Amino acid sequence: MPELPEVETTLRGIAPHVTGRTVTAVVARVPKLRLPIPSELGTTLPGQTIDRAERRAKYLLLRCSGGTLILHLGMSGTLRIVPAGTPPGKHDHLDIVLANGTSLRFRDPRKFGLVLWTTGDPLAYPLLANLGPEPFSDVFDGGYLHRLGRTRRAAIKLLLMDNRVVVGVGNIYANEALFRARIRPDRPACALGEDECHRLAAAVREVLRDAIAMGGTTLRDFTVAEEPSGYFRIHLAVYGRGDEPCHACGEPVQQSRLGNRSTWFCSRCQQ
Ligand SMILES: [Zn+2]
Repeated sequence: MPELPEVETTLRGIAPHVTGRTVTAVVARVPKLRLPIPSELGTTLPGQTIDRAERRAKYLLLRCSGGTLILHLGMSGTLRIVPAGTPPGKHDHLDIVLANGTSLRFRDPRKFGLVLWTTGDPLAYPLLANLGPEPFSDVFDGGYLHRLGRTRRAAIKLLLMDNRVVVGVGNIYANEALFRARIRPDRPACALGEDECHRLAAAVREVLRDAIAMGGTTLRDFTVAEEPSGYFRIHLAVYGRGDEPCHACGEPVQQSRLGNRSTWFCSRCQQ
């Protein structure tokens, strides 16, 4: 599933090709993905210019002159730029045709993606309105985690993965950040000291930054005909490594369940 680093890489891949371009047509080949594709897109979007492309959590926002197109890649979605008129593949469900002879093409084999349109503030759109801060924003730091965690008995890993606390920390990145911060995933959030919260906030940013950096080198050009290559992974210290020796101390990596998600940690390195 595309995680925040893949979405950020997608944004960086497509932004130079869509910013400042005018839409000439919208081709939706299915009526709905996870939700219906707004039927008015075909009439409202042509003639509008894409002023800028942004990311909020895992949503891509194409801010146009008369509203915002909100895209979510769901479980399997990819975006790329193709010459207009390139025959669509089976899973190419949407083309945004641009005046320069290219199309932004949305492929989504599992159809869990989203294509939405709003003329209001996209950040106030129901799906986006209650999202927590971005991990790279000034708001998200150790002090913030500490203040928020003080009253929570939930495991710190569950807090990290809660979109209302911070966005974009999926299971891989939560496991890896906790390892780097040397904190056991099942510790109650309220038991963490301020120093630990600072280590953890820094570790979250570090793993995401590493993954984004990896994406920049792993993903091929967004303007080639094939879909962007598979989703990338940072060097994994614990995720998926149950019973294998910890890279730091050699102790077998432990696997457990936490909030119904697989969880890995080193019982010697993480306290
Ligand atoms: Zn270890």
